[in-house]
Amino acid sequence: MSVDVAWAEAWIRNSARVLSENRAELNTLDREIGDGDHGENMDRGFQAMLSKLDAATDAGTPAELLKTLAATLISTVGGAAGPLYGTAYLKAAAAVAGAAALDGPAVVALLTAGRDGIVLRGKAESGDKTMVDAWTPAVDAATAAEAAGESPERILAAAADAADAGAAATVPLIARKGRASYLGERSIGHLDPGARSTALILRCASDAAAQ
Ligand code: ADP
Ligand code: MG
Ligand code: MG
Repeated sequence: MSVDVAWAEAWIRNSARVLSENRAELNTLDREIGDGDHGENMDRGFQAMLSKLDAATDAGTPAELLKTLAATLISTVGGAAGPLYGTAYLKAAAAVAGAAALDGPAVVALLTAGRDGIVLRGKAESGDKTMVDAWTPAVDAATAAEAAGESPERILAAAADAADAGAAATVPLIARKGRASYLGERSIGHLDPGARSTALILRCASDAAAQ
């Protein structure tokens, strides 16, 4: 499939399904180092977006869908993750504004802008045990895959693989941002829930391109 509006819609629909399937797991991860609501928060936001998609008549462009998603998440998710993911999708949308189909450089621009939006909003650095630790390896892997001349589909697959590895690598880290940082060294030994949701979402982007 080309990386167009049908891809963007499939990405969002896959994300809604996968976040719903993993709601309990994300809540459990967040219960260990936070307040136990990350799965619930993400599920609520993406279900609200699903209702909008089902009611929509004109799909528009990838950027238009991502902009609607951003606004929906900002108004329904709450907590730390709502504004962070909202900003990510808003900046990602701006990076591909007007494009009907995304080539390799555009896919990299979308992912990079999303990550930069989260950093701008949350001020986390790599290694702070946040969703940035899934996003940044994904952006780096996507950039490398694009430089090697890979297709948009392969770039998204490389990003998803790197996000998985990045999320797993948050386990031994000490949290320095968000609620988990209140635990200090007691945050060691747990997977960051936001890094896990990012890995799930970026896998959905890759799966949508392979569909
Ligand atoms: P809350 O902590 O308000 O309950 P969530 O549970 O929905 O919000 O989201 C928690 C996740 O948000 C964390 O696992 C972490 O990945 C991410 N997070 C929190 N603060 C920041 C930040 N400043 N920068 C980046 N990500 C953050
Ligand atoms: Mg929470
Ligand atoms: Mg909360």
